[in-house]
Parts: sequence; C-alpha cells; structure tokens
Amino acid sequence: MKPEVRDQENGADVIVIGGGFHGTSSAFHLARRGVKVTLLEAEYCARHASGVNAGGVRTLGRHYAEVPLARASLDLWHRLTELLGEDGSFVSSGQLQIAETPPELEKLKRRVADLNALGFTHEVIVDAKTVHEIAPALTPNLVGGIWVKDDGHAVPYRAVTAFRHAAQRLGATFCETTPAQTVERIGDRWRVTTPQGVFSAPWLVNAAGAWAGDFAAQVGEPVPMKPGGLMLMITQRLPHFIDPVLGATGRPLSFKQFANGTVLIGGGLRCNADVFARHGEVDFMKLSTSAQTVTDLFPHLKDVGINRAWAGVEAFMPDEIPIISLSKKAPNLVHAFGFSAHGFELGPIGGQIVSELVLDGRSTQPIAPFAVDRFGAVATVEYENPNAKGAKFFESMQ
Ligand SMILES: Cc1cc2nc3c(=O)[nH]c(=O)nc-3n(C[C@H](O)[C@H](O)[C@H](O)COP(=O)(O)OP(=O)(O)OC[C@H]3O[C@@H](n4cnc5c(N)ncnc54)[C@H](O)[C@@H]3O)c2cc1C
Repeated sequence: MKPEVRDQENGADVIVIGGGFHGTSSAFHLARRGVKVTLLEAEYCARHASGVNAGGVRTLGRHYAEVPLARASLDLWHRLTELLGEDGSFVSSGQLQIAETPPELEKLKRRVADLNALGFTHEVIVDAKTVHEIAPALTPNLVGGIWVKDDGHAVPYRAVTAFRHAAQRLGATFCETTPAQTVERIGDRWRVTTPQGVFSAPWLVNAAGAWAGDFAAQVGEPVPMKPGGLMLMITQRLPHFIDPVLGATGRPLSFKQFANGTVLIGGGLRCNADVFARHGEVDFMKLSTSAQTVTDLFPHLKDVGINRAWAGVEAFMPDEIPIISLSKKAPNLVHAFGFSAHGFELGPIGGQIVSELVLDGRSTQPIAPFAVDRFGAVATVEYENPNAKGAKFFESMQ
C-alpha cells in the first residue's frame, strides 16, 4: 500500500518539482546550505530540454536583463570542479557570432556599444581577419563578428547529472517517475499529490519547465507561457576543424564540433511540441534550411552525413526571458521556468538564486525583470492542465 504522506519520515524543508537543470541546480544549492530537499521528477532527470539541448554555454547575445546573471553563471561554469567535484564536461572554447554583411556588423557594433555603456566588456568586436584566425575553416565571405573568449559548451546530460550527484551527496532525495499532479497550501505546508503518494514540505520550488505554467495557474497566478519545440541535428564524425561555438547574425545558426568529431547544428530552430504527449516533432524541411546555412559557411561540409536529429520541449515566455521569482500570490513558493531557448547556460546561477530566495528572501542577482507578475493579470492559460492530462499519459506507459 502507498503511504499517504511519502516524505513524512524525510522531513523535507523544500519540495522541488522538476529534475531539469534548474530543479537539479536548485536542489544542489539548497542542500549546500543545509536544506533538506525532495525533488520530484515526472520521468527521469534531464529527460527534457536540459538533457537534449545544444549545450551552448553562451553569454554572447543575451537579452540585456539577463547579462548579469549569465556572467555570474559563467563564473560558476568555470568553477564547477571546485563546486561539484567534477567539471560537468564544460569546455571553455569561446563563442563567435559572425556578420556576413556590413549592415549586420553595424548591428553588432551598436550592441557592443550598448553593453559597454552598461559596464559589460565581455563581447568584443573582431574584424574578418581575426574571425579567420579564430575559425580558419570558415568561408572568406565574412566581414567580422563578436567574440566572447570565455564562453564555451558542455554535454547537457553530463552537466545536469554532475549537479544531481553533488546534490545527492549533500543529502537531497531525488524521486524519478513521480509526476506532481496538484499543489496545495494547507496550513503552513505545501502538499503535492503524485501517483506515488503525497509529499509535503514548508517550501515549494516550481521548476517544471514547459509544464510549470500549470502549477503557477494552480496557485492563482497564471502566466502567458507557451510550450514549444526546438530541433538539433548531429553529423558523422569528422576530422577536427573548429574550436569555438559559432552563431550567425542574419540567419539562425548554432554550430559546434565536439571532441569526438561530430558537429552539432541548431540555432533556435522551432517545431511543434505536444506538451501532453511530452514530445517535440522534428520538422525535416526546417532542418534542411539549417543545413544550407552550414554548407554556405563551411563549403567543405557539403557531402557530410547527418546521423541523427531530435527535438526538445521548451517553455517560452512572450518577452523571451524567464520567470525567476518568489510567488506574489502564495507564501513560500519560488518559480523558476520559461527560459525560452537559452536556460542551459543559466543553470548554475538559476539554482543559486532559488536557494537565496528560499533562505534569504531576496537574491544577490538583479532579478526584478524576471518577476512572475510582470505580465499583469492573465485571464487564462492557453492550454489545459498538462499535468492532469499527463497523469493519463503515465498510466498508459505502465
Ligand atoms: C533543442 C534545444 C537546444 C537548446 N540549446 C540551448 C543552448 O545551447 N544553450 C542554452 O543556454 N539553452 C539551450 N536550450 C534551452 C535549455 O535547454 C532550457 O532553457 C533549459 O534546459 C530549461 O531547463 P528547465 O530545468 O527549466 O526545464 P526542463 O529541462 O524542461 O526540466 C523540467 C523538468 O520538469 C519535469 N516535469 C514536468 N512536469 C512535471 C511534473 N508534473 N512533476 C514532476 N516533474 C515534472 C520534466 O519532466 C522535466 O524534466 C535549448 C533547448 C532545446 C530544447
């Protein structure tokens, strides 16, 4: 028989919903400060966006509101071994955003001037000659770009797992295949129902990615978050030809070569996502556009084989920046979701901010732009309760 309150004996201080990067990092940072954490993951940790993304550790090109967080997160990426006891597969390769035309380069120069005025000097304009010194295999038809030398990349599943292992060593409990269904504040505790029983704790963290909007709605603060799909493809192994991660300005591109020789190609390529079936659908026509961009920039890749393509489900906000916020409606609740295609780099700092909100009531980072109530009153969420429907999905899997 299932116990009614599963974690009574554990006495968790905080329940985290979602075992993506942000939930896992939250569990780590909370456990590091002595908090007893129970994390509930519907499937398995890093199953969704956090485990299937492009692994870009990019402060380059960020929304201005995100720049301080992205730079603080990058500092943590560089210190992962000290923090976690392993490097999470992070490689500090640098990231390069190329300009193919003079107007594109002008646009990049305006951005860097704006950043400099705000006190940020990490993005540096480079001319065509320097671009080719950094990435000699690129086509000569380029006029310059932006270079961030301390950005890089990591293998997503390994990075999230490094946080998970470190959190577990500090005593956090991870419950996989345990989907949260309803959340309710009763007295001074949160009660979270799951098919595995009820979990209860004084604090709750909503880090359920593309499914998080439902929990915000359940506590009376719906947000205009939309789930969407993002695609990637990976080539056969090739001789080493490029070190930095590459992006373009006039067309979508994210491009990197791993140490094993494979080349990962993406760049915010959107596709349909079925949030109820917890699945993104690859659109091969759109992928072919991306392949064309790659062969324009690297003509020597025109006959290379694509080994695999996939899609992940991501949470998008209308202003494309996340919600990282104490609830304005319910006590002892933190929301951290809506990372809109660029939340992997923010994983290390995201969890630290959540831990500060729980333990200190405020963050050391400037998080006002990420408030949950910034959209005003939102009359309805645009989808039915995916977690209630999701329960049917899980039953059908059993
Ligand atoms: C193809 C692709 C490429 C990307 N490339 C990059 C990149 O290069 N760089 C970058 O910075 N970002 C990138 N991103 C974005 C980044 O992956 C996400 O922003 C980030 O991983 C979001 O993390 P998360 O923890 O908020 O969400 P998720 O990883 O979605 O985690 C949420 C977790 O909550 C679980 N969950 C859902 N409902 C429930 C429930 N009811 N109960 C319990 N658990 C539940 C889910 O199963 C999931 O594991 C990319 C995303 C995709 C899809």
